[in-house]
Amino acid sequence: MKKLQIKPGAEVRLKDYDPDDTSAVPGDKDECIEKSEKLSERLGELQELLFAEHKHKLLIVLQGMDTSGKDGTVRHVMSGVSPASVRVASFKKPTPLELEHDFLWRVHAQTPAAGEIVIFNRSYYEDVLVVRVHDLVPKDVWRERYGLINDFEKMLTENGTTIIKFFLHISKKEQAERLQARIDDPTKRWKFQSGDIDERKLWNDYQKAYQDAIEKTSTKWAPWIVVPSDKKWVRNYVVAKTIVDTLEKFDMQYPKVKIDIKKIE
Ligand code: AMP
Ligand code: MG
Repeated sequence: MKKLQIKPGAEVRLKDYDPDDTSAVPGDKDECIEKSEKLSERLGELQELLFAEHKHKLLIVLQGMDTSGKDGTVRHVMSGVSPASVRVASFKKPTPLELEHDFLWRVHAQTPAAGEIVIFNRSYYEDVLVVRVHDLVPKDVWRERYGLINDFEKMLTENGTTIIKFFLHISKKEQAERLQARIDDPTKRWKFQSGDIDERKLWNDYQKAYQDAIEKTSTKWAPWIVVPSDKKWVRNYVVAKTIVDTLEKFDMQYPKVKIDIKKIE
C-alpha cells in the first residue's frame, strides 16, 4: 500500500505503476472483497464518530480517466455510511458564472465543514487536466495553477481539513473494454458520451497531464495515491483501506455529555 502513495518531490512515471497490480491487497479476490466489506462497516462507525466529535473535516478527491470508476468508487465508499454527513460534489464543465470567477471559487464552497466527509468526483484538478489538454486557457495560466492548488490545499489543511487524493489508474485496454460495455449494455448506455471516444484519442496527452499534476501537487499535507484500478475489487479495497487508516489516526472520542441525567424528568 505504502508504495502507492507518491512522495513529495518524487519524479512520477505513470508507466511504472501497473493498473492491474494486485500486490497491494491481502489474499485472493474473495478474501479481499470480504476485507473490503469489513472496512465499509468500520468506515460507517468512524464517520459517525467524526460527525459526533465535530472537529475534523475530510476531503476525498477522486480523479481518473473516463470509465476509471469514479462513480463506482463513490458508491462503494458510501455503502456503509449515513448520507447525513457524507456529501458528493461532482464537477462538470464550468457554467458561464463559474468561468467569471477564479478556478477555485466553485470548489471552495463545496469543501467539508466540521464533522463532514466530502467526496469530490472530479475537482479543481480538471483545471490542469482537461483544460491543459484542450488548451482552454493559455499555458502560462494553467502552469501557475499547480502552485495555487498547493497553497489552497495547505490553507484547507491548516483549517482542520485532511485531504486524500486518489488517482484511479486504468490501462488503455481496460478503458476500451469498459467503453464497449457502455455501448453494449443497455443499463450502462446512458453513461456513454460520443465525446468519450474523442477523449480516448488524447490518451497520451491526458497521461502526461496527470503525471505532471501528481508530481507537482503531491505534498506532505495532501498526498496522491495511485490506485491500481483495472480490477474493481483492488480499487475498492485500496480506497477503503486508505480512508479507514486516515480516520483511525484522528484518534477520535465521543464528546463528553455535559447534561446531568438526574435532572431530566
Ligand atoms: P462526467 O464526469 O462524465 O459527468 O463529465 C464531466 C465533464 O466535465 C468531463 O468531460 C470533464 O472533463 C468536464 N469538466 C470538469 N471540470 C472541468 C473544467 N474545470 N473545465 C472544463 N471541463 C471540465
Ligand atoms: Mg463521462
